[in-house]
Amino acid sequence: MNQPQAIRLKRLDYRILETCIHCGMCLPTCPTYMATKNENASPRGRIAMMKAVASGELSPGGHFADEMYHCLGCLACQTACPADVPYGFMLEEARADVEASRVLATPARSFTRRMLLSHVFPSRVLLRGLGTMLWLARRTGLQSLALRTGLVRLFSRRLDALAPLAPPITRPFTAMGYRTPGNPNGPNVALLAGCVQDIAFADVNRDSVTVLEKLGCRVSIPRGQQCCGSLHAHNGELETARRLARINLDAIDPLAFDAIITNAAGCGSHLRHYARLLRDDPDYRERAEAWDKRVQDLLAFASTFPRLPESRAPRGARQRLTYQDACHLVHGQKIHAAPRTLLKALKEYEWIELPDSTRCCGSAGIYNVTRPEQARALGNRKIGDIRTTGADVIAVANPGCMVQLRALSREHNLPVRVVHPVTLLAESWQ
Ligand code: SF4
Ligand code: SF4
Repeated sequence: MNQPQAIRLKRLDYRILETCIHCGMCLPTCPTYMATKNENASPRGRIAMMKAVASGELSPGGHFADEMYHCLGCLACQTACPADVPYGFMLEEARADVEASRVLATPARSFTRRMLLSHVFPSRVLLRGLGTMLWLARRTGLQSLALRTGLVRLFSRRLDALAPLAPPITRPFTAMGYRTPGNPNGPNVALLAGCVQDIAFADVNRDSVTVLEKLGCRVSIPRGQQCCGSLHAHNGELETARRLARINLDAIDPLAFDAIITNAAGCGSHLRHYARLLRDDPDYRERAEAWDKRVQDLLAFASTFPRLPESRAPRGARQRLTYQDACHLVHGQKIHAAPRTLLKALKEYEWIELPDSTRCCGSAGIYNVTRPEQARALGNRKIGDIRTTGADVIAVANPGCMVQLRALSREHNLPVRVVHPVTLLAESWQ
């Protein structure tokens, strides 16, 4: 067995692994089980493997590693589970063991992970530098030239295949250090700018400020904040996730704000668990507990206001609007009603419920990069569902899902606008 002393699952309270009562209620909600009908590709099967690793019967390499990354991390199983199995937490620990075992390590994988997870994502300067380069490449036509002439394919077939998934860079980036002008009396909130969100969806951050200010909030975007670390925690890099959590806790004093607001489902689901992440750190644990109490998803936060701004009247026929539940909003944070309440109140739109809206679209963090075929199959199914609604607009509150649905709707010639719900609120609220 590889490095038994490094196995995190062994150090986990075994009672956590034993919470699964093997009832199987999660199985029909699990996309990988439904696609394979293989017990090992189900939540119950994966938990059994985690227990086997914890008890020393199984090595964290080989088949175990493959199954831990075959899992989408969509957390649909958590919603279905009657025993409250903390599957997401267990998966993070299991993936950390896979990475420690180095069974998946190849020079290319290690280099890409080190570059992106250790250097680019944790540094706003590097991320913005990369964002600016990509923005220039698109503006000058260099990017499409490289794709058209096959230069990208020559360099990397994989990169060429992934090019349609690259979100356009939106400049200017988020205004770090922003504070609502004047001296309004409303709730004092800090907005988290995110990492990819900052360079590819800065418009969503601006719309978030607009929405919060229309609700009467005093908004700050504190300087010094970095990537929340969710990508790291979900991909077995728990130490870097901890480092990023400490940076954010140093940059934003949770006690100075009524709420710390995030608009990205994947980030929110992680940001609410800094105390769990830093449970063994006496210097940060208390602050992390205060932080967790204040982190709120923007849509859930907005829905608590007793009076919402009036939405504008339709100009001509109303557009048909539907909504996809981002997994880490509905399963990770149990937020289902709030976005619907806000969107259904917009007079410009006719609401249509999306069938199976809580089933993953296949984006799943970086799943559409690491497992493009499975991600595409799930995405294609989702596009089929959207088509049946006849929607003109689909709202989804996570950048990865927006990228996936935009790319696939283009590919399938489905004329639908894929947009963050907060953008619709910013546009419609008077
Ligand atoms: S997180 Fe999603 S893919 Fe993974 S076991 Fe649970 S339901 Fe299945
Ligand atoms: S629903 Fe929960 S308790 Fe039942 S098998 Fe799945 S993970 Fe285990």
